Amino acid sequence: MKIVKIEKLIKKFNDTIAIDNTSLEINQGEIYGLLGPNGAGKSTIINIISGLLKMDSGTIEILDKNITKHSTYVKKNMGVVPQELAIYDDLTAYENVKFFCKLYGIKGAELKKRTIEALEFVGLSDKADKFPSSFSGGMKRRLNIACAIAHRPNLIIMDEPTVGSDPQSRNYILQSVKKLNELGSTVIYTTHYMEEAEAICSRIGIIDHGKLIAEGTKEELKAIVSDIQSIVFTVDNSKSVNIEKLKLINGVVDITVNDNDIKIENRKEINNWDKLIMYFNDNNITIKNIKSNEITLETVFLTLTGRKLRD
Ligand code: ADP
Ligand code: MG
Repeated sequence: MKIVKIEKLIKKFNDTIAIDNTSLEINQGEIYGLLGPNGAGKSTIINIISGLLKMDSGTIEILDKNITKHSTYVKKNMGVVPQELAIYDDLTAYENVKFFCKLYGIKGAELKKRTIEALEFVGLSDKADKFPSSFSGGMKRRLNIACAIAHRPNLIIMDEPTVGSDPQSRNYILQSVKKLNELGSTVIYTTHYMEEAEAICSRIGIIDHGKLIAEGTKEELKAIVSDIQSIVFTVDNSKSVNIEKLKLINGVVDITVNDNDIKIENRKEINNWDKLIMYFNDNNITIKNIKSNEITLETVFLTLTGRKLRD
């Protein structure tokens, strides 16, 4: 069954076309990643699906029901983790989760049970009586998630749920998403971090300027750039490397520098390793290590758009 079916969705903000005639389908049981840079239109799609924004045209069905005609049914069956934290500072963690769960008509002993369960799920049981103002960014994010899942929705929609989290909370959140999926929920997960999409998503849609520019499993997406290979040279001092000059070597597609690691994306069919090594030799730059790396979704995005996911 298709859990989500979006057809020819269009949304404009004045002169900005935020969603440009986009169609996509999400199957039951998937963790579907919507990956794209800031401003791509991820939140706009999520906000339209969750009923916070009106579309200009198009149709959306969730669980085979039109979201405009059956908004109450649809809302009951989904849980939304918004990009902007939606938690109340004057309620404790427990009261926050209970408040949101109650909105879905859950009452009495069941309400209490599900609230406790949701807090436990995100690892905040011991903070149940604390106010969010005392929480770290990551803990607030986890509470935000607990509020969206306590009513046990079929479809969970998460809009950049890790932004502002420390690495530990980020891992915790990613593991929770996987676990929610294993427990039966279909998940839509938006992010501009390709590592996150790679780590947890069973299928990924790459979105840019309101259009879906590629879709598939990470293996399928990487096959788009199967003619590219990346090599990382670790040097003694990357500051002495003239990147623009290196870029002129035939076959070089892109270069990123990270400390003393110089990552060079290369056309596979052009054998230019000797020329690259010669550049370092000629300029008296010591190569400490050479590593041939696997292609990432960043390369896919770069190849499709000519830009980087994160600038
Ligand atoms: P993302 O979530 O992928 O970062 P958004 O969906 O927030 O992207 O934004 C898509 C585009 O729509 C951007 O160009 C953004 O500036 C614009 N946009 C989003 N919300 C509004 C709004 N309320 N008013 C005007 N423009 C908006
Ligand atoms: Mg957004």
